[in-house]
Amino acid sequence: GSSDIQAEVLVLGSGPGGYTAAFRAADLGKKVVLVEKFNTLGGVCLNVGCIPSKALLHTAAIINESQEMGKHGVSFTQPIIDLKKLADWKDSVIKRLTSGLAGLAKQRKVQVVTGTGKFTSPHTLQVETTEGIKTISFETAIIAAGSQPTKIPSFPYHDRRLMDSTDALRLTDVPKKLLVIGGGIIGLEMATVYNALGSEISIVELLGELITGCDRDIVKPLQKRIEKQYANIYLNTKVTQIESLPEGLKVHFEGANAPASVIYDKVLVAVGRRPNGKLIDADKAGVIVNEMGFIPVDKQMRTNIPHIYAIGDIVGNPMLAHKAVHEGKIAAENASGHKSYFDARTIPSVAYTDPEVAWMGLTETEAKAKGIEYEKGVFPWAASGRALSLGRDEGMTKLLFDRKTKRVIGAGIVGVNAGDLLAETMLAYEMGADVHDLGLTIHAHPTLSETIAFAAEVATGEITDLY
Ligand code: FAD
Repeated sequence: GSSDIQAEVLVLGSGPGGYTAAFRAADLGKKVVLVEKFNTLGGVCLNVGCIPSKALLHTAAIINESQEMGKHGVSFTQPIIDLKKLADWKDSVIKRLTSGLAGLAKQRKVQVVTGTGKFTSPHTLQVETTEGIKTISFETAIIAAGSQPTKIPSFPYHDRRLMDSTDALRLTDVPKKLLVIGGGIIGLEMATVYNALGSEISIVELLGELITGCDRDIVKPLQKRIEKQYANIYLNTKVTQIESLPEGLKVHFEGANAPASVIYDKVLVAVGRRPNGKLIDADKAGVIVNEMGFIPVDKQMRTNIPHIYAIGDIVGNPMLAHKAVHEGKIAAENASGHKSYFDARTIPSVAYTDPEVAWMGLTETEAKAKGIEYEKGVFPWAASGRALSLGRDEGMTKLLFDRKTKRVIGAGIVGVNAGDLLAETMLAYEMGADVHDLGLTIHAHPTLSETIAFAAEVATGEITDLY
């Protein structure tokens, strides 16, 4: 245990928050040490989150589309799925990105230390590496240790047929009957993948709705579509017990519309993620961690200890990569002697399901609850030439405007590519654009982006004859 390594800026964890912070601090001239327990950089997002899930979701979208082309007069045979090759391809995407990050770290002379780090004082961190314990002393630190899947204690986790998102992304097999516990974004995305690969999907959700936090009218087209594709969607239903039997996992339900129990080949638990705040001995550095494991921070991403910052999933919701990246830059700038604040107006959310569900700013539900005076423009994609030519007219674009200023205050989009379409509304919101800015901007025809201008024209009354 010699104090072998010195850092001006220590970054704990190399996910989107951590690597962004490390690179930014290095670019600002700091000597940076990045501690990561995985063998690759990139954290949850690159290794077992955003990237592998999106690689598989693209395949799922292609499979779905090919199977629906019959109505256009072109029929494909059933897809032949080489699961090993699909998994290898997904892994190759991860590898390109993570090795890219390793290269970027090297270029910037960021020292990567591989091992599990824990604080030992306000200025030291101990790392358990394969070559033994290393002690790092630091001037400032940025905690970016992320989160992990929430486990339900009474479930039989020794049984490999009970999966979390990391297991599900491994793609070891395609279960005949798969139950997904949790109707949030991660659960629904993995359901999309396994449904396309041929599993019979059931979803169980404790609450009365899928994707809470988003407006119901935006979720509805997705829900309608998956109600047809999936075997069952049990809402307001609790899983009380899972028995590990030779023939499968016997799941016991408690809910008005659910059966008492059903046997599944595999079960995916996607009931949320919990922050890793309690696993890093933050108290030895004097850093406050709340009961849930989150680390409270201010707008500069500073913890209660002025020279220690925290970012990403470990500081709170929403647990999203783009939030972590943005916070990473702010923390790194402050840790490097610059002044920088978190003042984004909103953080966008996207479910990369089929169709995609995307929203930002105020939802209509929130606007109503807060008594905010708003106007809305809703454009159904059934009136979009582009959506019709894609054979996907179930989508919808909704914009909310402040009643007085007419400025954009929220948007919800459901449909193919909704996540990408949302970007225009994000910029409009951040720049204070109003309903006329959106409506008078010439959008290329025929694109799905036109639905944003049309929704604005619905709000101004320029388009009236939709229904
Ligand atoms: P993480 O990515 O969690 O990284 C933390 C890192 O710290 C990890 O590499 C971990 O090994 C390391 N670490 C932790 N403790 C220690 C320690 N003591 N010592 C050393 N290293 C340590 N978000 C999106 O925005 N878009 C998406 O499409 C999306 N899809 C997702 C799909 C799935 C299946 C999952 C699980 C998540 C998804 N997310 C998505 C969420 C996203 O992955 C996270 O919000 C993001 O990774 C958080 O970044 P972070 O930097 O806070 O931490």
